[in-house]
Amino acid sequence: MATQTHSWSDVPTGLALLRDPLRNKGTAFTLEERDALGLRGLLPARVHTQDEQASRVMLNLRNLSDPLEKYVALNALHDRNEALFFRVVIDHIDEIMPIIYTPTVGLACQKFGQIFQRPRGVFISIQERGRVAEVLRNWPYPARMIVVTDGERILGLGDLGANGMGIPVGKLALYTGCGGIDPRVCLPVTLDVGTNNAELLADPYYVGLRERRVSGDAYDELMEEFITAAHQVFPGVVIQFEDFANHNAFRLLEKYRDRIPTFNDDIQGTAAVALAGIFSALRVTGENLTDQQFLFMGAGEAAVGIADLISSAMETNGLSAAEARERCWLFDSQGLVVSGRPKLAGHKLLYAHDHAPIEDFVTAIRTLKPTGIIGVAAVGGTFTRSVLEEMARINKQPIVFALSNPTSQSECTAEEAYRWTNGRALFACGSPFDPVTIDGRTFVPRQGNNSYIFPGIGLGAIASGTQRITDDVFMAAAYKLAHLVSESDLEQGSLYPALSRTREVSAHIGTAVAEAAHTRKLTEQRRPADVFADVEAQMYEPSYPSYA
Ligand code: NAD
Repeated sequence: MATQTHSWSDVPTGLALLRDPLRNKGTAFTLEERDALGLRGLLPARVHTQDEQASRVMLNLRNLSDPLEKYVALNALHDRNEALFFRVVIDHIDEIMPIIYTPTVGLACQKFGQIFQRPRGVFISIQERGRVAEVLRNWPYPARMIVVTDGERILGLGDLGANGMGIPVGKLALYTGCGGIDPRVCLPVTLDVGTNNAELLADPYYVGLRERRVSGDAYDELMEEFITAAHQVFPGVVIQFEDFANHNAFRLLEKYRDRIPTFNDDIQGTAAVALAGIFSALRVTGENLTDQQFLFMGAGEAAVGIADLISSAMETNGLSAAEARERCWLFDSQGLVVSGRPKLAGHKLLYAHDHAPIEDFVTAIRTLKPTGIIGVAAVGGTFTRSVLEEMARINKQPIVFALSNPTSQSECTAEEAYRWTNGRALFACGSPFDPVTIDGRTFVPRQGNNSYIFPGIGLGAIASGTQRITDDVFMAAAYKLAHLVSESDLEQGSLYPALSRTREVSAHIGTAVAEAAHTRKLTEQRRPADVFADVEAQMYEPSYPSYA
């Protein structure tokens, strides 16, 4: 994206300019700009480049030892100078992502009220029913990408109510940092329908409504009003549902996916990233997808989303739908999900196979002989030494994905995965882990992190103006992501490309979304001659505008 040039009459001057995060350049304002914009004397004499400013930010950040303090410092920078914030995010994504997103964002949400300084995004409470469009019009920028949560299932941390706002904020920072979506079109939204978290209800610093959660018709009416109003105020806006509890996530996706451009990242984005990791693992083993059998620890949004996409991929490789689903098994808090279990939730039904109940995960492994176990239950430590040793006993190279976030909920550490399988695990994790050396071999575990996927989905949806986000784009995204994993990545045990390549990954995934939009005639835009070049050209660069 070309550097923007503003005419001086467009921009505020003096202190108002320094306090406008979208236009502020801090000490990078040139002397000419300082004269023209009433900034003489309001800044020290030295003019810095953006790189020099970024280096100062990193120096200060690295001097802080507490991740939450780093989170607060970065938020303050975001509020002061947006371009510099994104310069730092993009240039140091490996280091910054764990601060602005998982795992630190989890802690930030838990302490949201305590660390609250400045609001970001739009909070819509149940009390604003009937006035949602009016509330959205208070947002001064033309939103094209909304991430919305109701805070009921934040990461693996449960109901955090309005404190969940940290998630849409962090996620949209990644839409820009990893996907190049212009931050001015990103809008974080929290629907505050109360919370059932007793601790928060008693917390004097809690920022949300101090009421128990509303559900049923009142909830659905607020959601409907929000979706309608969002499209009225911001026509064509992409809406990504985030961290909704199971009982709402699946039905909201079903309700709105054929009406507006929308997707649920917890279900569909996670699925694409997990499938990409499986494709990489199979490159290592040389085995076929259709010969695999997966046992999930967890039976929620991530598990069912991943199982659905694995099944679709197996179907494209020749299995029937029933055969494909039979290769995916779910295990939840009550044990193996089997057809005979009474009162099974609807989303689990397709994977509730005929089998005797099994209460213990190791026994389930011994009985079903999975080639891969995928942890998405948000219960820390469930891939015990016995689990890992059993996987290593029945498989030459077991697939072990411990995808739960944040780190405290991870099914096992990277060290445990490699150690208890004698270095044979094909491992991916949800939260970051350092490299591990076992018997002289160093493994570099990479995150099966949906931040490889969702930024590109959003980028492509916006670039192409698609009216729907169809299932096939998640399959295409998985293939694109897996394709970007190099042989040297695989040699060191990495099933994903380096996080520093996320912008490149996003451009490819964005292209897949745009291609689907044009092929399926889901957009009124003309197909560009070179779709990839068109998507790439729309990616935001955090260079400073020139006020000359
Ligand atoms: P969810 O609430 O929809 O599902 C959790 C599931 O775990 C439920 O089915 C529940 O019954 C089951 N469960 C609870 N306790 C259990 C136990 N003791 N044993 C077995 N199963 C148990 O949540 P979700 O959206 O599926 O997310 C689950 C986890 O996956 C979270 O930690 C989330 O952060 C993580 N996740 C990671 C990524 C990633 O990119 N790495 C993406 C999405 C989700």
